Amino acid sequence: MDQTLASQSPEGPSIPFDNSYAALPQGFYARSDPRPATAPRLLAFNAPLAEALGITGLEDRAALAQAFSGNHLPEGAEPLAQAYAGHQFGGFSPQLGDGRALLIGEVMGRDGHRMDLQLKGSGRTVFSRNGDGLAAIGPVLREYLVAEAMQALGVPTTRALAAVATGDRVQREVGLPGAVLTRVASSHLRVGSFEYFAARQDRTRMQMLLEFAIARHDPGAATPLDFLKGVIARQADLVAQWMSIGFIHGVMNTDNTTISGETIDYGPCAFMDGYHPATVYSSIDRQGRYAYENQANIIPWNMAQLASSLLLLETDTEAGIAAYTEAVNAMPGLIQAAWLNRFGAKIGLSEPSEADRALIEELLALMTNQEADFTNTFRGLADGTAAGEFSDPAPFRDWERKWQARLEREGDPQALMRATNPAVIPRNHRVEEVLAAATAGDMAPFEDLFRVLQTPFTLAEADAAYAKPPRPEEEVQATFCGT
Ligand code: AMP
Ligand code: MG
Repeated sequence: MDQTLASQSPEGPSIPFDNSYAALPQGFYARSDPRPATAPRLLAFNAPLAEALGITGLEDRAALAQAFSGNHLPEGAEPLAQAYAGHQFGGFSPQLGDGRALLIGEVMGRDGHRMDLQLKGSGRTVFSRNGDGLAAIGPVLREYLVAEAMQALGVPTTRALAAVATGDRVQREVGLPGAVLTRVASSHLRVGSFEYFAARQDRTRMQMLLEFAIARHDPGAATPLDFLKGVIARQADLVAQWMSIGFIHGVMNTDNTTISGETIDYGPCAFMDGYHPATVYSSIDRQGRYAYENQANIIPWNMAQLASSLLLLETDTEAGIAAYTEAVNAMPGLIQAAWLNRFGAKIGLSEPSEADRALIEELLALMTNQEADFTNTFRGLADGTAAGEFSDPAPFRDWERKWQARLEREGDPQALMRATNPAVIPRNHRVEEVLAAATAGDMAPFEDLFRVLQTPFTLAEADAAYAKPPRPEEEVQATFCGT
């Protein structure tokens, strides 16, 4: 009889788990079960990503909601909270860990890459401290939307597989509807994972963590130094890419800085409208530590924390310090080179040279003076509409003449610019608008914005409103962490 019932009940998703982190010994994590959700309801599901991960049985939305709320984890899941430490706004916490997240396992994607599946907002763990382990619909959908927008923009990022409303209330400044996000990442290892064992002077586990990380992210690395250089190269590229689309992460703590080089943690992140290098949105970043332009200074600082942690593995500390210092000191040069390539492409230069740097910086200075819209000015270069982004176009016209002269040496700068400068980004006022609607129960605005952000380099006439900067009264002044 049981069998008859089972075959009649709708099939839930099946996930081909292949877990490796759970096989690490004691000290790396704490096993923990998700908190049951009262009335799980699927808000968003990324079917193409699920298919790329080899997940099957996607037909029944109620069953997906049961699975990705954590109520009914698919067979083979081994939920656990990962241990990590971190420097938050410069101050060190020797123990943070997954306080509101659970790694449920790993799968080998169709492309042969091992990927983590993680629930976020799934209840308290031993690492929760005073937190409730929960997340509200707004921050969950914000991460879902922005992570997938970053992916479409070509920026390395963790992905969003599912967002499920739990049917439970979450107490913040006001009571809010709760939700759980399923995040997919090429791993959840961070700088803080290494700081955790460094703080404990635990050489054995540091070595195991290094081997685990190398197998996953740097199979060619033979030494901790090789590994460090790999992380530095990925992060240098990532920050240059963020800057090239006007992205401000907002909380670049070392526990939010991945080993993979993927963007993680979309708490108080924001895209700039009007350009200014000192732009900060995060309400908790009062000193501007993570301001737009300072991102390029902070990431080497974060890499220095990784380097100090890895020193634990060196027997010759003096020589280690010298070599690691050199690797970290090389990072600003890597960022500048990546920046030049990215911003060169934005003004149509296929192989920008150092001599072109001044031309780019001159444009950015003009944009700063008049707070020209970052996205629309660059996009407008290819369309001949950039001058319209300046209240006084005269200085821009002067710059434009120099630029046109430089473009004579280029093949098809228009095509390069259109492939590099998005027509549409997740503008803060639009994001806030769709999240407010979703929190009130209406998913339609979210779905429409999500659709437009899937093809950011082309914008249909009918969707032109999504490219508009906010009117003064629409401007978002501050963003808040999802806590
Ligand atoms: P984040 O700001 O999301 O990077 O989180 C920093 C640390 O705080 C991590 O250890 C999180 O697990 C923890 N944390 C954040 N929000 C919560 C929450 N609502 N409940 C428990 N822990 C949390
Ligand atoms: Mg975090």
